[in-house]
Amino acid sequence: MKNLISFWEKESFLQFDVVIVGGGLVGLSTACELIEREKNIKIAILERGILPTGASTKNAGFACFGSPSELLSDAKNYGWEYVLTFVEKRLRGLEKLEKRLGTKNIDLEKSYGGYEIIQPTQLYVIEQLNELNQILKKVPFFENLPNKNNIYQSITKENIKKFGFENVNAMLHTPHEAQLHTGNMMKTLYLYAQKLGISIFTGAEVNHFEQQNQKVIINTTQNITFTSNYLLITNNSFYQQFSNKNNIKAGRGQVFITKELEKNLSFMGNFHLEEGFYYFRNVGKNRVLLGGGRNLDFEKETTTDIEITDIIQNELEKKLKEIILPNQNFEIEMRWAGIMAFTDNHQPIIEKISENIGVAVALNGMGVAIGTKVGEELVNLFF
Ligand SMILES: Cc1cc2nc3c(=O)[nH]c(=O)nc-3n(C[C@H](O)[C@H](O)[C@H](O)COP(=O)(O)OP(=O)(O)OC[C@H]3O[C@@H](n4cnc5c(N)ncnc54)[C@H](O)[C@@H]3O)c2cc1C
Repeated sequence: MKNLISFWEKESFLQFDVVIVGGGLVGLSTACELIEREKNIKIAILERGILPTGASTKNAGFACFGSPSELLSDAKNYGWEYVLTFVEKRLRGLEKLEKRLGTKNIDLEKSYGGYEIIQPTQLYVIEQLNELNQILKKVPFFENLPNKNNIYQSITKENIKKFGFENVNAMLHTPHEAQLHTGNMMKTLYLYAQKLGISIFTGAEVNHFEQQNQKVIINTTQNITFTSNYLLITNNSFYQQFSNKNNIKAGRGQVFITKELEKNLSFMGNFHLEEGFYYFRNVGKNRVLLGGGRNLDFEKETTTDIEITDIIQNELEKKLKEIILPNQNFEIEMRWAGIMAFTDNHQPIIEKISENIGVAVALNGMGVAIGTKVGEELVNLFF
């Protein structure tokens, strides 16, 4: 498409101090961090979708630091130091997100906590619970808490029955997990950013950028060219389009939500199964949101296509029927998918690629928790 830009447009709309590619949680957090520090800085966010179209508006809204089986698996693969660093980072990220946006605005519900459901193949988690709790008490966030010795606690058999689940061998609980309303979180963040004077262009897909002297020239698919002193790229799994390093793998996450059930749920809170590969929660008092199952079909789920598949949706329904809502009728109201990005060492990529171009991508499926901190770290690289 030819696009003849006017002098006025160029003067007022297309020149910035900082341009950010990607209007997800990280792009917005980066912009807010920067303008909170430098009030007069001119920032634009370029988002290709009318709504953010990656993971930030599609996720499950778990404000969590990892379930016991997930943390034990992380310790095995990446070491305890990694676990300590990322539990701390997730909790601090959530603390900052809440402070920035306000508890009520994001419907942050802290009273239920988080649970891990243990099935026969995960009984090792119970055996290693003491060791895990010993490690977790070293996390600085927990240091002054009265229950720091028992971040995760076993639930008695009697109490497990009250949840109404079936095929569950044991359950663990932590009070340090919360749930939020993903849509309200992102909407509040958009409004906050706009209030601070950040320009957000939606439907603006960046297809090329290049350095010209001290500036960065950024083109969109509509042939609109922005000029900026700095370019910060926060487009998560879609960063592959700009990089030939091949160090990021996309990971699709599929989810569904039930229609309102006839009676209220006998459980509230966030629930994790199988090293975090499955997760469910209440939404309100009588709906269940359930997601995961990427491990069933890793190859097909390594994609940036925002679609759902039968194999995963059927397994999610099976889990709902056999474990979560046995003997209860339910209907599915909506199904959707979002795209995460993973790295081999399970660490986000936050780096300078030149003196005035930076990247913060690949949040390894924990962006609600660490996204705010990742934005802060990206800003720290330059300002
Ligand atoms: C189903 C699901 C459940 C999840 N549940 C949780 C959870 O409970 N707790 C948790 O902590 N994390 C969870 N996550 C992970 C979390 O949502 C992500 O880590 C986080 O949202 C990543 O934010 P981001 O800003 O880096 O990426 P994104 O939200 O993907 O944002 C990137 C943006 O860049 C835009 N973009 C891409 N290319 C371009 C381009 N060329 N030009 C302009 N714009 C572009 C995209 O449209 C997108 O809006 C979940 C993810 C999924 C998919």
